[in-house]
This record gives sequence, structure tokens and C-alpha cells, in this order.
Amino acid sequence: MPTETEERIKIAVQKSGRLTEHSLDLLVRCGLSYSRGRDQLICYGENMPVDVLLVRDDDIPGLVQEQVCDLGFVGLNIVEERRLSLVAAGEKVEFDVLSTLTFGHCRLSFGVPEEMQYSSSEDLAGLRIATTYPAIVKDYLARNSLNASVVKFSGAVEIAPSLGKADVICDLVSSGSTMRAHHLKEVETILESEAVLIGGSEETRGSKATWIARLLQRLQGVLQVKESKYIMLHAPRSALPRIAELLPGSEAPTILPLEGRTDLVAVHAVCRENVFWETLELLKEAGASSMLVLPVEKMLA
Ligand code: ATP
Ligand code: ZN
Repeated sequence: MPTETEERIKIAVQKSGRLTEHSLDLLVRCGLSYSRGRDQLICYGENMPVDVLLVRDDDIPGLVQEQVCDLGFVGLNIVEERRLSLVAAGEKVEFDVLSTLTFGHCRLSFGVPEEMQYSSSEDLAGLRIATTYPAIVKDYLARNSLNASVVKFSGAVEIAPSLGKADVICDLVSSGSTMRAHHLKEVETILESEAVLIGGSEETRGSKATWIARLLQRLQGVLQVKESKYIMLHAPRSALPRIAELLPGSEAPTILPLEGRTDLVAVHAVCRENVFWETLELLKEAGASSMLVLPVEKMLA
């Protein structure tokens, strides 16, 4: 266990589930190395004042709300559910989404029995809806002036209609195969979700503010690098305006002279989006040659 007396940052990560591996991987790519405690519930940061608490994903917004943790990696679906239930209870929300994380994509959708005629959300009126996200569903119903009853389930929502406990469901979907396997059809999406980083307000950070800011900056760098490429090519000077237009998400490229050539230059640019074959073909048509696309390892703005 670390012995420093400085205040350590606590980050909540799902203990075991779909978000665990990606979340820990992001922290490692931000430079954190850690050892796992004997109880397996805390990973102690060895090179930064940062510890990782491994918990159930549903508890993560609450841990940040109560200032037990400073940051948390969790699905937007869980964040929204907690936020809306606090709002509904008239309580203050003490956490914010600081960044989206580009993994854990899924959607919260209504699923109705295959044989049910469904043309719009008005068809939900008067029905019983089974869900693990009652606050999000109630908020959706209120915003659309719909009257329906919400039945809270803590898991296995998709079997609620066949058990006679509900008429329709509202549940997380990624491929849609679970709904299909239970003879349900997905009819309406009410939330597009992905993993996000949440944190408490800036005023609560105190002496941890510097390290939190550093981590957030590194995280932005890591997320940008995931998509970024470094591209090098040769091009006739006259083609430069067209080539600059074609380079995806790049800022002003670097133009370098080529020994012994006045018509041809080398162009180097960081592209903040992936570079696909189609782009290279278009660049070639515009006059580019000797193209090289390299991965970017680290980036700091
Ligand atoms: P815990 O034991 O931590 O409560 P869990 O069973 O609630 O785990 P997982 O199934 O691991 O959680 O899902 C974690 C998150 O992954 C979800 O809240 C959601 O944001 C995201 N996710 C991505 N795709 C899916 C999917 N097809 N079904 C459910 N969740 C998904
Ligand atoms: Zn959960």
C-alpha cells in the first residue's frame, strides 16, 4: 500500500463486466501502473497518486455523488438513470460527464412482442413497461405526454412479457439478438449510450485538482491518438490546395522541400481521423505519390 500522505485520487471502474478491460486499458495508456490489492477491490497506483476502486457499475455515479470517488468510468445509461432519479427526488446532482470514451456503445430501446402492431410511441399508452431504467423511461413518457405504467426489473427484463409481468420492455440493445431470441422487436430508441468519464464539480477537487487536470489532459490525448494517423507524401506544389482539402481532420500540414526538385514537395500532416484507402486513392488522383500512413503513439496539445 502506498505511504504518501498526499491526497490520492480515487477512480471507480466496473469490477467485472463489459467496461472493465477498456477502462483499465485507458488508465494504463494514460501512464498509470498499478498493483492489485489483496482484496482485489482496490488497485493502488504506483507512479501517480491515483487508486482504482473496482465496483458494480450501478454504484459508480453514487460514489462520485457522495465524493467517495473523484472520477468514474461508466455507461451513459447508468449516469442518466441516476441523474434523472435524483432530479425526480428533488436532490442536487453532484456529478458531470467530463468526456465520452468511444467504447461500450449500446442503445436503450423499447421492445414489443413481434405480433404487436406498432406505429408510434403513442401505441405505448396504457401498457405496462418492464425496465431496469425506470427514471429514464418515466422521463421519456413525461416528455411525450404518454401515460403508461413502469415496472422496475433488476435483470432479465426480456422475459417479463412472456411471464405476463409486462406488455413491453425497455432495455439495452447492441446487436438486437437478445430481443429477437425472446420474440420481441425493437421499435424505438430513447437513449444512445457509450462509456463516459464522470467527475464531481471542480470546487470539490481541492489539492487533487492538478493531478485530475493532468489525467484529463492525458485521456484526451489517448482518445485522440486512437483515431489519429501521421501521413507523409510527395506532391506537386500546384496540387497542395486540393491535397490539404483531402487530408481528413488535419490542421496546417508541414511542407518540406525535396532536394533537387522545385516542382515537388514533401507534405507531413497529423490526421485526427482514420485514413482510409479511399482517401489515399483520392490523394493519388490529386497528384500525391510515395504516401506513408503511420500510427501516432502519443499526442499532447
Ligand atoms: P455489474 O455487475 O457491474 O452491475 P452489469 O451486468 O450491470 O454489471 P454489464 O453487462 O457488464 O453490466 O454492462 C455494463 C455496461 O456496458 C452497460 O451499463 C452498458 O453501458 C454497456 N453495454 C454495452 N453493450 C451492452 C449490451 N449489449 N447490453 C448491456 N450493456 C451493454
Ligand atoms: Zn450493473
